[in-house]
Amino acid sequence: MTSNLWFLKGIKKGVLTEKFPAEPPEEPPLRPSVMEGAEYSECPVEAIDAEGKWIAGRCIFCRRCEPHFMPTGNQDLSEVRNFSPDAIRKSFYIYPLDSGSCGACNMELLSIFNPQYDANRLRIFMTNSPRHADALLVMGVRTEGMENVLREALDAMPGPKVIIAMGACAISGGIIGTMPLDKEKVALEIAGCPPSPYTIISAIMKLRGD
Ligand code: SF4
Ligand code: SF4
Repeated sequence: MTSNLWFLKGIKKGVLTEKFPAEPPEEPPLRPSVMEGAEYSECPVEAIDAEGKWIAGRCIFCRRCEPHFMPTGNQDLSEVRNFSPDAIRKSFYIYPLDSGSCGACNMELLSIFNPQYDANRLRIFMTNSPRHADALLVMGVRTEGMENVLREALDAMPGPKVIIAMGACAISGGIIGTMPLDKEKVALEIAGCPPSPYTIISAIMKLRGD
C-alpha cells in the first residue's frame, strides 16, 4: 500500500532533478576586481592581491570585503592543470578523502548525488575504495593524523591518479594555512568554501573535457 502511495506521489510531482548545465541558478554577478576604496587588509587569507585581483582558490567567502567585493559560489571557479581528458574513460569514479575539513565540503560533495543534482546521470560516481578510483578528491587542511591515509590512498589508486583539491582548505590551506597536497600534482582545483554542487559538477565536466 505504502509503495503505491510513493508511486502516485512521484507521478504527481514529475521529474524534480535540475537540468544541468542548461539552467544554472541565477546568482549575483561576480565582480572580478576590487572597487576603489576597498581595504585589502580586511581579507583574512590574502585572497585579494595588491592589484585588487581576486584569488578564488584562497577565498573563504567570509564576505568581509563587501560591498567592494562580492564573491559568489555559483560560478566557474575551477582550474584544470597539466591534465589531458583522454586519460579518462567514460565513467568517472571519485574517492573522497577528508584530510581535515569542517564538514561543509563533504556535505556539498554528497549533495551532487542527491535527486536534485543527480550526478550519476552525468557519469560521475563515488567509490569507497581508492583501488576503483579515477580521482582522489581531497577536502580540508593538512592534518598529521591523515598524512599516512592520504599517501596510502594515492599508492592504492590505479593510473592516471587524478588528484582533485576541493575547497579553499585543500587548495591553499584556508584559514589554517596548511595544505594537504603538493600543488604541482593537483589536476583540478575547485574553489569555494564550500563550492556549490553546480561548481563541483561543472568542474568535473571541465576536467573530462565535456
Ligand atoms: S570574501 Fe574572500 S576575498 Fe573577501 S575578505 Fe573574505 S576571504 Fe577575502
Ligand atoms: S574549504 Fe571551507 S567549507 Fe571546505 S572544509 Fe575548508 S572551511 Fe570547510
